[in-house]
Amino acid sequence: MSRWFRQILFGDVDAMFTSAAVLANPALASKPVAVGGRPPRGIIAAASYAVRTYGVTSAIPTAQALKLCPHLVLVPPDRPLYRRLHDQMREVTDRFFPAVEWTSIDEFYADATDLQTLYPDPMLLGQRVKDAILEATDLRCTIAIATGKSVAKIAADAHKPDGLAVIEPGTEAAFLAPRPVKSLPGIGPKTAETLDRLGVRVIGDLLDPRLEPMLRRVWGKRLSVIQALAQGRDHDPVVPDRERKSLGHETTFEQDTNDAAFLERTLRGFLGELAHELRMEGLAAGSFTVKLKDAAHRITSKQRHFPQPLNDDAVMWPDIREALRGLLSPRGRYRLAGITFGDLLPAAGGLFDRRRSHALAAMDAIIKKHGPKAIRLGGTPETA
Ligand SMILES: [Mg+2]
Repeated sequence: MSRWFRQILFGDVDAMFTSAAVLANPALASKPVAVGGRPPRGIIAAASYAVRTYGVTSAIPTAQALKLCPHLVLVPPDRPLYRRLHDQMREVTDRFFPAVEWTSIDEFYADATDLQTLYPDPMLLGQRVKDAILEATDLRCTIAIATGKSVAKIAADAHKPDGLAVIEPGTEAAFLAPRPVKSLPGIGPKTAETLDRLGVRVIGDLLDPRLEPMLRRVWGKRLSVIQALAQGRDHDPVVPDRERKSLGHETTFEQDTNDAAFLERTLRGFLGELAHELRMEGLAAGSFTVKLKDAAHRITSKQRHFPQPLNDDAVMWPDIREALRGLLSPRGRYRLAGITFGDLLPAAGGLFDRRRSHALAAMDAIIKKHGPKAIRLGGTPETA
């Protein structure tokens, strides 16, 4: 098999939100599931493949979806679950690839150019990544491999669900030719409408010399860029998405509170989940901010640096508790509390002692498998 000058892999989870709903509640497996808000004002956020056959698509009102599919099972969005699945998939892609660019919670591009020695057959690489994601998350995804991002993305869209496609170098233009023009990046619905009126419907039409004068009136000088894409020439690099600069969580209480112990428990809970996220991403926080909003919507906050970057919640807690106590005023009533971590850095080894690190790793494994609610921080002193 000859070496590709560039190899880009695109992955996209099939019906991520509804598949996640089935993971959370396996009894939904054979049901027509959609994720969205309740009628009368709710909107469908995502529809399973079974529901799509009824004409239910994302962004339509839930009331209309229920008319199209009366036995529709409506599930509310579960962002912490999506986030957890995303983190698990990111661990898989980081294991395989030197550079990964996640463009949404369930879509990524990876540069596989340097993996060709290890995986001379791109089909095998694609299958391994699919299997690893399924193993880690129980989610199925569609993967396509091509010499550029746009061809890989279009190929994946054409092979959903549970698909695997390889578009060999030199076959890009032939693969793209019969696809609708609007599947090319940069051709929005409005341009597609204009093109449709001109009789330009498929990507191959964009390369037809007889149509060129007309196409030039639509795009002017940009036509050459569009034509390069239509031939599958796309040098857009995989840009690893920026490292997270901060990580935080806050909540608004149902009733204003002046209960200091309750506020401490709330922040201690956030700290446990956030520190878990830091460890999962291999990060440590150099600083934190505690924020409170009082009944009159006045915001007060305290920012502090840790003596060294940390991701062990028991070690972080005393400083955070002290900052919280410093913010609380005796007669204050509070409607919101939150913590944000800043100055995030890759965690160096030896940040905490070995035994402790093993205990945390074991806890993280449990949280990862069963969710943050599954574990009390037993064995870890709540207030070290
Ligand atoms: Mg998807």
